[in-house]
Amino acid sequence: MLNSCTKLPYLTAIMREIDLERSDHGLPDDLHIVAAAGARGLSQLVLRADVAGMPLEWIDYKEAARLYHQEQVAYTCGSLLYELYGGINARTGRRTVLEVNSIVATVGHTGNPGNTRHDYVPPLNNQTLFRRDAYLCMYCAQRFASRELSRDHIRPFSQGGTDLWTNVVAACRRCNNQKASRTPEQARMQLIAVPFTPTYAEYIFLKGRRVLADQMQYLVAHFPRSSPLHDRIQHWLS
Ligand SMILES: [Zn+2]
Repeated sequence: MLNSCTKLPYLTAIMREIDLERSDHGLPDDLHIVAAAGARGLSQLVLRADVAGMPLEWIDYKEAARLYHQEQVAYTCGSLLYELYGGINARTGRRTVLEVNSIVATVGHTGNPGNTRHDYVPPLNNQTLFRRDAYLCMYCAQRFASRELSRDHIRPFSQGGTDLWTNVVAACRRCNNQKASRTPEQARMQLIAVPFTPTYAEYIFLKGRRVLADQMQYLVAHFPRSSPLHDRIQHWLS
């Protein structure tokens, strides 16, 4: 079920049977990992949240398993992604299994001050910018592949423009060339949407390479109600 969260009892005793350090140097015979169908291999990332449920970052399955090991996982949400099989417990004679879900909420230090700061500004790069703009050219409204888009400075550098989220949009090469070093008014071109600075949760979403449906639903629930991404994600999925 989407977004159903499960509180976990701490799993240290069980986890001791699973030697993560050894697994870093090639998997030992007694440890193997099975990816659920939804994970489509071992590269699917897990969404880490803090104990209040605020999204923090993307982590791989090893990092997720380590958090379980350190008793930092308070509860999990989403769907089962991986099963880690460890050694046989001498006392019970049972093989130990650790299940890693698509979303884990963790206690302890977040390491991401941006999550709690209202004035947080995420770093700007083309990949997240193009995703913010749903791969649409913000002038001609056509959709393009990432390689066909460019970063347009609405107010150009030559006229005092800066490299900030609110002054940049995705633009196709043709529109960018046509606009040249002019403002949209000077070039008589119109933006189809107002550029915005993503919040932390929006930024985590934009950074995700392959966001599973339950992870997306979880992240979207943390977007501001007014976020343009609500509509753009629909557009994107269509
Ligand atoms: Zn265009």
